[in-house]
Amino acid sequence: MSCGHCNFSLKPTYQQASNLVQQQPIRCDQCSSNLLLDEADRQVLDHKFKSGARIGKLAVMIMGPYFLLGLATSIHVISVGSSPFPGFPAVLVGVGFALAYVLKTAATDDAEYDFALFRNGERPDETQAPDH
Ligand SMILES: [Zn+2]
Repeated sequence: MSCGHCNFSLKPTYQQASNLVQQQPIRCDQCSSNLLLDEADRQVLDHKFKSGARIGKLAVMIMGPYFLLGLATSIHVISVGSSPFPGFPAVLVGVGFALAYVLKTAATDDAEYDFALFRNGERPDETQAPDH
């Protein structure tokens, strides 16, 4: 993201980005302008947040039962002493790591999108205090 006022390149924190989605201004580190996102950009950011949250939920839904199943299977294999094939527990663990990796990759959206921020005071619906 870049400041629309001084072109300073901003790296908003998660909290700042979340503020922007909720139309709360953030402060430019360099010129101290209160910055907001254009409505179109705000929707793009909102969408990124929502898809990130959706993948996070999906990850929990997949990984939770998978690990329980893996744990139960491992206990069963150890206690009974029989395995469908040699190295079965290792395969379970391996698949678990692969799943976790795929989900983490899907959840991490590192595509750069250049959001242009503009000053709060430049919004048409913002009124500058006139001199009295
Ligand atoms: Zn600035």
